[in-house]
Amino acid sequence: MQLPVCTVCKQQWTWKETWKSSLRMDTRIPCPRCQSSQFVTKKSRRRLMLLSWPLFLPILLPLTGLSLVYMVILWALLSLLYIVFYPYFVRLADEEEDHFTEPLKKQN
Ligand SMILES: [Zn+2]
Repeated sequence: MQLPVCTVCKQQWTWKETWKSSLRMDTRIPCPRCQSSQFVTKKSRRRLMLLSWPLFLPILLPLTGLSLVYMVILWALLSLLYIVFYPYFVRLADEEEDHFTEPLKKQN
């Protein structure tokens, strides 16, 4: 497991820096070290989606007949795991790999 590395300055981001950068609404993330624009790669975004699905598990839990206390504990544990492991799944690129923005870039 490895924390994300900036593609420009090749420096590894810390766990805290990765989270702080991820909480932006913008897809463009400035590197905390060299301020160059970084983007989360499509592949890692897909992995992060897979990582986040257990957070939606509580929606299905009422069907299992577990008591509310267990549901809350389970959900809290899953959320904690997500928070801890999230930065290790982030991978950076210096270009946005999005099909929606590709045609726009070609126009420029
Ligand atoms: Zn950098």
